[in-house]
Amino acid sequence: MPKTFTPNFNRFNSLFELVSYFNTEQKCEKFITANRWGDDIVCPYCGHHHCYTRSDGRFKCKDCNSNFSCKADTIFDNTKIPLLKWFMAMYLISCHKKGISSVQLAVDINVSQKSAWHILQKIRTLFAQDDSEALDGEVECDEMYLGGRETNKHQSKRTEGTQGRSTKTKTPIFGMVERFGNARVLKVSDTKASTLRPIIEQFVADGSHIFTDEYQAYKGLDERYMHSVIQHGIKEFSKEGITTNSIEGFWAYFKRMVFGTYHYVSTKYLQRYIDEAVYRWNTQIDDEGERFDIMLSKSIGVCTYEDVKMIA
Ligand SMILES: [Zn+2]
Repeated sequence: MPKTFTPNFNRFNSLFELVSYFNTEQKCEKFITANRWGDDIVCPYCGHHHCYTRSDGRFKCKDCNSNFSCKADTIFDNTKIPLLKWFMAMYLISCHKKGISSVQLAVDINVSQKSAWHILQKIRTLFAQDDSEALDGEVECDEMYLGGRETNKHQSKRTEGTQGRSTKTKTPIFGMVERFGNARVLKVSDTKASTLRPIIEQFVADGSHIFTDEYQAYKGLDERYMHSVIQHGIKEFSKEGITTNSIEGFWAYFKRMVFGTYHYVSTKYLQRYIDEAVYRWNTQIDDEGERFDIMLSKSIGVCTYEDVKMIA
């Protein structure tokens, strides 16, 4: 299980407050150390407790003899970028509702665009979705296609039905959104029932009320869920509350983020951008300070070396 902590400071209400507080690298390191371990420094390599502090501020494990810093096994590991810039980046990401481009971040924190890109990619790893908390209640499910010449999935559904939809130029994405609640959204290989059903069963609690359109892949959901179908073709959008307005809202939001801020996202990193959008969607009611807290708490001890290496 990833280690999380409750940040031990009064909330920062502005970037200015953040920068004023973390005015030295040592202060940032002290903050990470205190919040990550308190007084009991634990070796990130062997799990040994009570490692000792060296004169240079790094730590040494008495058991496996590893030397390590407070940044070991976090997203800040193996980087020359000052911690303050990382913290600023996280704060700026918290503030920009539609995301922040690497070009803009580079200007804002005075790093190269390449460094800004790496920072953003690493921070996005903190947003990875999991199934630790199932969606329940009223859940709307839907698919969309990103890329190619058009992204309007209703058009493609109407014209081609369930057969022969090419995924050569478009990437299918599958979304599940609670009404007035959380979302889980995944890049998928295809939108066949055999692909979507296990995902729904993984992320949506049994007995929930699922709303979908009439797409064939959703047939049979009523074996495990209450299932209501909306027929887009005959304009039944608001009949008896049978709508997919929540998931449509998410798709609109996601497209604004992708096309408005990032302009282009590669298929390779698509899931990370989806994760970012889902994170923003799920924390809509939080303010910048709260979002920053969550991000910071996730950044310590959650990102494995393998995660980082994948994008390094
Ligand atoms: Zn050790």
